[in-house]
Amino acid sequence: MKNEFRDRWQAMNWQDITLSLYGKTGVDVQRALASQRRSANDFMALISPAAQPYLEQMAQEAQRLTRQRFGHTVGLYAPLYLSNLCSNDCTYCGFSMSNRIKRKTLNAEEINRECDALSAMGYQHVLLVTGEHQQKVGMDYFRQHLPLIRQKFSSLMMEVQPLSTEDYAGLKTLGLDGVMVYQETYNALTYQQHHLKGHKQDFFWRLATPERLGQAGIDKIGLGALIGLSKDWRTDCYFLAEHLSFLQKRYWQSRYSISFPRLRPCAGGIQPASLMDDPQLVQLICAFRLFAPEVELSLSTRESPYFRDRVVPLAINSVSAGSKTQPGGYANAKPELEQFSPHDNRSPQQVADALSARGLQPVWKDWDKYLGRTAQNQ
Ligand code: SF4
Repeated sequence: MKNEFRDRWQAMNWQDITLSLYGKTGVDVQRALASQRRSANDFMALISPAAQPYLEQMAQEAQRLTRQRFGHTVGLYAPLYLSNLCSNDCTYCGFSMSNRIKRKTLNAEEINRECDALSAMGYQHVLLVTGEHQQKVGMDYFRQHLPLIRQKFSSLMMEVQPLSTEDYAGLKTLGLDGVMVYQETYNALTYQQHHLKGHKQDFFWRLATPERLGQAGIDKIGLGALIGLSKDWRTDCYFLAEHLSFLQKRYWQSRYSISFPRLRPCAGGIQPASLMDDPQLVQLICAFRLFAPEVELSLSTRESPYFRDRVVPLAINSVSAGSKTQPGGYANAKPELEQFSPHDNRSPQQVADALSARGLQPVWKDWDKYLGRTAQNQ
C-alpha cells in the first residue's frame, strides 16, 4: 500500500476515469444502491449520467442515512473574514493579488467587534477565513489573534493558506478544531491554468495538506473541489471521493467534511468550464451521503434559499447563514471588499426558522466545551 495520496493520485488517469464514469449503466447504479457498504466504484456509478433516473431513490436513501447518523440536527456556522490580502492570483477569485480592490486586515479591536456581532446572532461555531498571504497574515497573526477569538466561541475552524504539520499542531494548542482546504481541482493541468501566481501554484503542496492536518491531529478536515473549474465535475468529484477514502483510512481519528462550492460571480471572475445544474448537485450530494454516511456534508450561502430549503433536509448537516464575505462585514458591511456574492442573503435567524419549519433542529455549535476539548490558553 502506498503512503501518500500523491501516489494514489498519480496512479489514476483522468481520461480513463472519465471514460469509466460515462460507461456506467443502470445495472451498475442498481448494484451501488443495493450495496450495504459502497465502494469508490459504486460512488462512480452514483455520480454518473446513468444514475440520473434513480435520483428519487438516491434521495430517499440519503435522507434515511442522514437521519440515522445525525438525527434531525443541522449545524450552523458563519465565516469570519479576517483579511482579503492575498499573494496568489486565482482566475476565479475576487481576492486575487492583481485585482484592484481595497485590501483590509482586521486588527484586534475590529476582530473583537466581528466576534461580538456573530455572538449576538447566536453563533458559537465560526470559520476564520483569510486570503493567502503568509507574510502579513501568517503564523504570527494567527498566534496573536486565535486565543482571543477562541474564548468567544465553542469551536473554531480555519480556511487559510496551507501550513506545515508543525504549524497546524501549534494552532491546535491555541484552540483550532478544524481546517477547510479545497483542492479546487484534481486536474493538474487545469489547476495550473487557474493558479497564475504565488505559492498556490504548488499543486502537490496543496494536495498533501489534508495529510499534514491528519498528522497534526486536527479534529475536522474539510475537503472540496470548486465545481465548474474543470471540464468535468464528475471526474473531479470522483478524485475527491478517492481523497476522502484515503484520508479516512489513515487519519481515522479526524472527522471529515465535504463542501460543494459552485463557481459564483466575482470581480474579475471567469465563466465555469462546465455547468452543473441543480438536479446534478442533488445527485452529487446524495452520492456522497450514500458513499460516506458518517461524513459532514456542508452547503454554503453560495446556493439560493430555494435550493437550500429543499436540499438541506435530504442529506446536508452543516450550513452557513447570513454570511459576509468581506473583512469587517458583520459589524460594518462594505460590499466592495467581498470575495463572492452570497446567493442566500437571509439572516441566520431566518435560515434557522426555515430549518425548523421543515422539522429540522438548528444547532449553533459544532462542539461543546463540556465534551472535553479545551484550548491550552483557556
Ligand atoms: S482563492 Fe484563495 S488563494 Fe486564490 S486569490 Fe482567492 S483568496 Fe487568494
